[in-house]
Amino acid sequence: MFRLGTRGILRVERWDGWDGWLAHGFSTRATGDFLRWPGDSEIASVFQAGRCGTAMLRQVHSGRWVRADAPWGAARPEADAVGSATPGVLLGVRTADCLPVLLVAPRSRAVAAVHAGWRGTVAGVLPRAVQGLAADLGARPREIEAAVGPGIGACCFEVGEEVASQFPERWVADDGGKPHVDLAGALEGQLADCGVRMVMTARLCTHCDVERFFSHRAEAGRTGRMLSVVGLKQASRRSRRCPR
Ligand SMILES: [Zn+2]
Repeated sequence: MFRLGTRGILRVERWDGWDGWLAHGFSTRATGDFLRWPGDSEIASVFQAGRCGTAMLRQVHSGRWVRADAPWGAARPEADAVGSATPGVLLGVRTADCLPVLLVAPRSRAVAAVHAGWRGTVAGVLPRAVQGLAADLGARPREIEAAVGPGIGACCFEVGEEVASQFPERWVADDGGKPHVDLAGALEGQLADCGVRMVMTARLCTHCDVERFFSHRAEAGRTGRMLSVVGLKQASRRSRRCPR
């Protein structure tokens, strides 16, 4: 379902055939640390996205969605979901335990990137992104494909009752000790409720595998960030320029 591509970037196998128009990928520790933002051209080069600028976020664990009609570079707005239907705009979210979700609507040629930790999941950031793709960018939920990248698994996401109680019971495991929340499961449930049929989940736990991933929890907050991106590529004619 997922495969490791060049530079340690996890890719969705199913989307390989869309390489002509779609850039996407989930970085791992091997790709590098994105805690400090590289320039747009470096990000585009790492993810083999061609000529493009970026539209990324100041993530605040909210349910907020923004639409990017042009790259905005370093002027990152506070939000946790971003969508676009404009070629040459690379969307992205940074994570280290929270779950990155990439959404692609292949017929409408619209895409979105979502940062979903427990707060954002409870706030409904992912359903908001599906709704945004539909309402703002003309996508149909039925055509949307979702890829849920590496993040903290139910194996390691131990939480207090005050957090567990905010999730539907089916996503909370409580075997005598502290409750554990299955964030990826909760996100899959939300996508199904939104009518998204094709959902691919990496089920790779960042906390279990700090050799491959950055984990905020496993490394007590002193860690790097992975970057997950999605965007529509520019047509490859040389005369075309990135929108600015
Ligand atoms: Zn784990």
